[in-house]
Amino acid sequence: MPQKQSRSSRREFLASTLAGTAAMALRGDAIAAAPTPPYPTYDKAQIAITLDLEMARNFPKWSDTQWDYEKGNLNQAAKDYTVAACQRVKERGGRIHTFVVGQVFEQENVDWLKQIAADGHPIGNHTYDHIYVLAQSPAELQYRFARAPWLIGGRELPDVIRENIALTNVALKERVGVETNGFRTPGGFATGLENREDIQNILLGLGFDWVSCRYPAHAGMEDLYGSGRKPSQLAFDEILRAQAESQPIRYSTGLIDVPMSPVSDIGAFRTGRWELASFLEAVELGVNWAIENHAAFDFLAHPSCLGVVDRDLQAIDLICDIVAKSPDKAELVTLDAIVAKAKPQLSPERKPS
Ligand SMILES: [Zn+2]
Repeated sequence: MPQKQSRSSRREFLASTLAGTAAMALRGDAIAAAPTPPYPTYDKAQIAITLDLEMARNFPKWSDTQWDYEKGNLNQAAKDYTVAACQRVKERGGRIHTFVVGQVFEQENVDWLKQIAADGHPIGNHTYDHIYVLAQSPAELQYRFARAPWLIGGRELPDVIRENIALTNVALKERVGVETNGFRTPGGFATGLENREDIQNILLGLGFDWVSCRYPAHAGMEDLYGSGRKPSQLAFDEILRAQAESQPIRYSTGLIDVPMSPVSDIGAFRTGRWELASFLEAVELGVNWAIENHAAFDFLAHPSCLGVVDRDLQAIDLICDIVAKSPDKAELVTLDAIVAKAKPQLSPERKPS
């Protein structure tokens, strides 16, 4: 309870400070224009719901680790949750941007994915084996290759990475009949693909003009399992602070990154082992920040994780509810739509106003 009070009083303080600043600006004779934020802005906040279609260690049971070797072998519960979530968001007038691990196309039946595609939910590429694209050695790429290095043989690392991404495009086209919509790196990196022009160029060479890779660092995510405690005020403050760092950026090669907005379900339920209520509170903070700042919010979850702790789709309903309450200020969008609006603002030729 004390946490809640201090959070809302902080919000009130910020709101009154901003109102005061605006009033002073209006009174002044000089130009009253607010400083341009260091990220793209939009008439309506761009709220995206994204799901990475993969299995996750520690879910559904904490002892589960086999998924490290079969990230794309989705169980029925994960597929059912994905279908239900997509259906729910479509009913609310939006679409979910999904990212698929190519292994799933080895399953006998992919009708559920065909239905998702037919309903207009974009499907992006999350590599074939859920590989770590910043790996410095083949063994670092993925647990599967550490255990079975002969799958890589003597091939060069960049070739293996390129093939692992390209295969997913091919499998998606052959089994579902649609083109890949964007790329998301397995794992999110606080510095994104900064200083990795080699990886940026592999992606550009495969036809991707945007990725979703960056996930800003945020402190305070201690493991609260069984403690009965809520996350600290620091955890919420850090999540709020990280929203400005979760806005689209342009790398030197021209590749655009639409970062994932903290906190992810894995961050909350694996790293922090939070209760669902705390996760919902953090999501609400993030979405509201995006609305107040005409910015983007890229909600990241995994059916194999969120589907276990939030069977009733409370998180997804919450996001849809917030957007529905502010139809003039926010809209549900997919990541490619955010890129279309952000890209012109990130152009190197664009002069600061
Ligand atoms: Zn992943």
